[in-house]
Amino acid sequence: SMGQIVVIGGGFGGAACARALKRADAKLPVTLIEPNKTYISCPFSNEVIAGLREIEAQQFGYDKLAAEGISIVAQAVTSIDTQKRRVTADGGTAFGYDRLVLSPGIDFHPEALPGYDAAASETMPHAWKAGAQTLLLRRQLEAMADGGTVVIAIPANPSRCPPAPYERASLIAHYLKRKKPRSKVLILDAKDSFSQQRLFEKAWKELYGDMIERIALSQGGRVTSVDPATRTILTEFGNYTPDVANVIPPQRAGRIAGIAGTADTTGWCPIDPVTFESKLVPNIHVIGDACLGGGIPKSASAASAQGKACAGAIFALLAGRTPEAPRLTGICYDTVAPGYGFSLIGNYQPKGDIFAEVEGVATSPVDAPRELRAREAAEAERWFQTITANTFG
Ligand code: FAD
Repeated sequence: SMGQIVVIGGGFGGAACARALKRADAKLPVTLIEPNKTYISCPFSNEVIAGLREIEAQQFGYDKLAAEGISIVAQAVTSIDTQKRRVTADGGTAFGYDRLVLSPGIDFHPEALPGYDAAASETMPHAWKAGAQTLLLRRQLEAMADGGTVVIAIPANPSRCPPAPYERASLIAHYLKRKKPRSKVLILDAKDSFSQQRLFEKAWKELYGDMIERIALSQGGRVTSVDPATRTILTEFGNYTPDVANVIPPQRAGRIAGIAGTADTTGWCPIDPVTFESKLVPNIHVIGDACLGGGIPKSASAASAQGKACAGAIFALLAGRTPEAPRLTGICYDTVAPGYGFSLIGNYQPKGDIFAEVEGVATSPVDAPRELRAREAAEAERWFQTITANTFG
């Protein structure tokens, strides 16, 4: 029989999965449930914060997916009956499924960072979901006087897009260097080392002198609580009251993953990496940032690759075939200034319950001529054009 497939979340993972399923068989009934009529992309949103790009360039709709026959429902899913295999959206409508795909992205742990709640994000923006938060952080930077301090608080891994906070620090420094050159960026970091660290640190010295300072975990960089009333950030060793506080709190799988029963005590969703089927609830597949991917970083590139591989696995399962183990490629670009970028490419395959890196990773050389940096910055823009066209275009 024809399987009924419901996909929750129209981001890089869910939209790619829905599209791949429909393209595999136009007769397959595929429903994509996503509350926002316009998706706002996090990749390249750091450029928006730094005034290098407008938010409109980040926005994508679902018209093309609808035209391909995917049924788009502009609602949020509020409950899932895993026995009856039925999801209910906030409009009250229920949708039955044979296979359910969850790609809800991230949410924040309410207890993980004392003091940081939804109200706090209005004064101390996270800007870790793109949209109003991105614009709020940008406005705060624009309103800041020269000589001010911007703090970026960075959580431990696993978290969405591990190198993106450092890209953000770079692009904010780029903005400040041009507009407010006596200002500082202070990174309070819950990690000692980070992705692409040598490349970032070299670029910072080269482009921004001592404008960016970083306090690592072992130097007391981990933020332990915040006080939004006074815009204070507390660590084990000190208090900071910066002019702009960009607090990126610890994360977990999007709330609906917990409601479905697919998240474990880590807050993320364990899966079988061959089929993406939940280890906890049958007939539910979890992809993108929400799943426990192991070695594969939580990125748009990975979410998209997982979405396509998951579609292939579901298609095989519906046909009674054994799905093949996927091989995923994740590409990550970081832009530290206009015309100055670098990259990391990794291949990943299932190993036990997670994805493991195979054949190492290819990272940009630390000592490369500026032409390569310029080329990689241009490649980053092409990557964005390509992935958004593949997903939404
Ligand atoms: P999302 O893209 O977040 O999509 C989840 C969707 O689910 C959302 O649209 C949401 O509305 C919907 N949803 C949630 N709950 C429900 C519900 N109950 N019912 C219905 N729908 C629901 N990655 C890269 O590869 N390259 C980059 O350069 C890059 N830069 C980044 C920069 C920043 C500043 C940030 C924060 C992230 C960056 N990323 C980058 C990471 C990338 O944005 C994420 O990894 C990617 O969006 C994950 O896709 P996803 O489908 O898992 O989640």
